[in-house]
Amino acid sequence: MSTSPTMVSSIVSSDARLTDSHGRVIHDLRVSLTDRCNYKCIYCRTGQEGPQFAELPGAEYLRMIRLFVSLGITKVRLTGGEPLLRHGILEIIGELAKMRTLWGEPLELAVTTNGHLLDSLAAPLKAAGLNRVTVSMDAVEAGTFERITRVPGSFNAVLSGVRAARAAGLTPLKINCVLLRGFNDDQIEGFAHFAREEDVIVRFIEFMPLEEGRLWTPEIVVPLNEIVERIHRVLPLVELTPRDSSETARRYGFTDGRGEIGIIAPVSQPFCGACSRVRLTSDGKIRTCLFSQAEHDLYGQVRAGASDEQLRAFIHRTVQGKEARHHIGEPGFLKPSRSMVHIGG
Ligand code: SAM
Repeated sequence: MSTSPTMVSSIVSSDARLTDSHGRVIHDLRVSLTDRCNYKCIYCRTGQEGPQFAELPGAEYLRMIRLFVSLGITKVRLTGGEPLLRHGILEIIGELAKMRTLWGEPLELAVTTNGHLLDSLAAPLKAAGLNRVTVSMDAVEAGTFERITRVPGSFNAVLSGVRAARAAGLTPLKINCVLLRGFNDDQIEGFAHFAREEDVIVRFIEFMPLEEGRLWTPEIVVPLNEIVERIHRVLPLVELTPRDSSETARRYGFTDGRGEIGIIAPVSQPFCGACSRVRLTSDGKIRTCLFSQAEHDLYGQVRAGASDEQLRAFIHRTVQGKEARHHIGEPGFLKPSRSMVHIGG
């Protein structure tokens, strides 16, 4: 007799699932496959070559991901650096597509990319088993876009990538835009039109203090309320009901029913209480929060010859210690030891 997902669900021990000491269930794993990036976005990189951490062989990431999946992870997002620069990306996705969750379902597989290589890679990524991509795009006007990425020709490359991803069926297609006052906040209304014209979900993200340099101030953050008010003035919005409790974006539809935008507001409206995420860096360290001061060397344990059982126990212990929340903007806030490009956004 075969076992249905519902039957499997009822017999999965609740002890197997990853939870932290604040009662949150962790089911979302973000894996950085490299910290190399072909862009030098002004709000992320200094423009100088920073430290490079190790990239591990694909099989080592797959072993560690498999362990997380055996502990209840249902969604894996590959990131970086720029994950599409990663040698063997299609093979890694092909292997991930074969994995099954504790409930016998395929994993939800997504990639966050700057989109530069997506024009040629979208169809092969879909064929390898990828479900969705999120493309980072910080302007809809080429001049502003390329002042941010510091790469000539990047705007047209990314636009072609977005269209190729949509044509390949990597949908719903999300575009993430980090807003910085004085840099690209003049793009807000343009992005609202872009969402409708290109049939994509544009999500504005508040800038967090995770850059290599020292750009962040409270004033540079464009808060959720301001974004909503500005768009509402030109294209009326209505807030949509959240689909689940760990959703990070507040979602808004246009009142004529065509198009959607989202706002991710970790600074003005933190959602740490509903966080279901944990991260694995490109050198195999677990980070339980973007703002963690400590990292937990899972790959160090692998290299030391730990068994799968010992590695599972290590992951469990580490996740138990997940931070309750971040402390952005509070006195004594400490920037994490690594910047976003090295942590994996
Ligand atoms: N290269 C890929 C990309 O561009 O999407 C993946 C890595 S990138 C670090 C992931 C995301 O983090 C991008 O959407 C980027 O805009 C965002 N990001 C980088 N620094 C950030 C910051 N300080 N605050 C908020 N988001 C940031």
